[in-house]
Amino acid sequence: MGSVVCKFGGSSVADADQIKKIGSIIRSDTNRRFIVVSAPGKRHKDDQKITDLLYLCHELAAQGLDISEPFHIVRERYLEIACGLKNSLDMQALLKKVEQRIISGASMDYVASRGEHLCALLLADYLGAAFIDAAEVIKFLNNSRVDDITYTLLKERLGEEGLYVIPGFYGSTEKNEIRTFSRGGSDITGAIVAKAVSAKVYENWTDVSGFLMSDPRIVSNPKPMREVTYREIRELAYMGANVFHEEAIFPVHGLNIPINIRNTNSPDDPGTMIVDKRDTGGGIVVGIVGKTNFSLIFIEKLLMNRELGFGRRLFEILESHGISFEHAPSGIDTMSVIVRDDQLKGKKRVLIEDLKKILNADRVEIENGFALITTVGEGMAYRPGIAARLFTALAEVNVNIRIIDQGSSEINIIVGVEAKDYERALNAIYQAFC
Ligand code: ASP
Repeated sequence: MGSVVCKFGGSSVADADQIKKIGSIIRSDTNRRFIVVSAPGKRHKDDQKITDLLYLCHELAAQGLDISEPFHIVRERYLEIACGLKNSLDMQALLKKVEQRIISGASMDYVASRGEHLCALLLADYLGAAFIDAAEVIKFLNNSRVDDITYTLLKERLGEEGLYVIPGFYGSTEKNEIRTFSRGGSDITGAIVAKAVSAKVYENWTDVSGFLMSDPRIVSNPKPMREVTYREIRELAYMGANVFHEEAIFPVHGLNIPINIRNTNSPDDPGTMIVDKRDTGGGIVVGIVGKTNFSLIFIEKLLMNRELGFGRRLFEILESHGISFEHAPSGIDTMSVIVRDDQLKGKKRVLIEDLKKILNADRVEIENGFALITTVGEGMAYRPGIAARLFTALAEVNVNIRIIDQGSSEINIIVGVEAKDYERALNAIYQAFC
């Protein structure tokens, strides 16, 4: 039996009771030997995350301002957890040291990393596990990429037996300066550890039982997603299905290490398995997700199709205005580009002028108020009738489709509809496939 890497997110370490749940999860399976933790997150909607408070402390200290108020909240939080766990660590002294380092000008990454560092110390003590400081094993190159030496170091330190706790989110540079990943980066640490120990599975414990097949705010009671491939997750994440840090897929992709998204508050739920390949017999479509606030830039020019370099010039203009685009469905004499509304802020008028002038276009228009819905599933590729089913579902609820785009991998179909039709359309597609 291979080993299991378990990463516990901020809500799973938010207080002593949550950490006790981790204890029973770990004890219930002896293969769960490598534990990666986040910093304590929110206990309720209006609570504060330790990492946010630490960033605030750093910002205040950098301006020579008093950090006692936010640091007091940090201190109380850790002391409360330590007390609830009957910890044997001298938490007061550890916190004092961190406070002093912040005041004396420690780097932002160092300050932020202390959230995970202290949390891992507490958890290791509670579980009777060995604590491994991520600064000693997760190494960054100068360009912020993870150095391959990381895997050798991890293998050396993580033995054949025993239980280990490693703080997530940070590592160190060649000069031993602390460096963090982007926010939510403990997921990446977990994936790196999973690769290093060739884990049987990488369990990512959070506060939901995996992914749902659609947005529960719009579709009532969407079904849970049991199995999904890395490629499908990428497509879904693009539309905001973000339970998991996107970059965390890369270390384990192609190694046959599935990622299992699990719920600390409901440990018996199987959660969602993210795998390299799935049997599409289990479902053609895995998810239907969408987003509003898109605009359509429409350009018409007679004989456009014969004009060499037209597309290049169009995208150069967008680039010169710092606009990144999402999709670009085109016709014979027309091209349209879909962009997020925020990309056009304050730029619309000049952009239209430039497009007309440089492209010598007959017509340039920008229309906003669009929603995009993507239907994702490896099972859709090379299978006739899927698009027909999708379009029929929309026709039946009287939704007009303004944009159609299918990725060349054929694992997604994106439709653009007017924002007013968004919820109706999402529900209709969900009912047609799930
Ligand atoms: N604590 C960090 C954050 O809040 C990293 C993590 O939780 O993964 O972003």
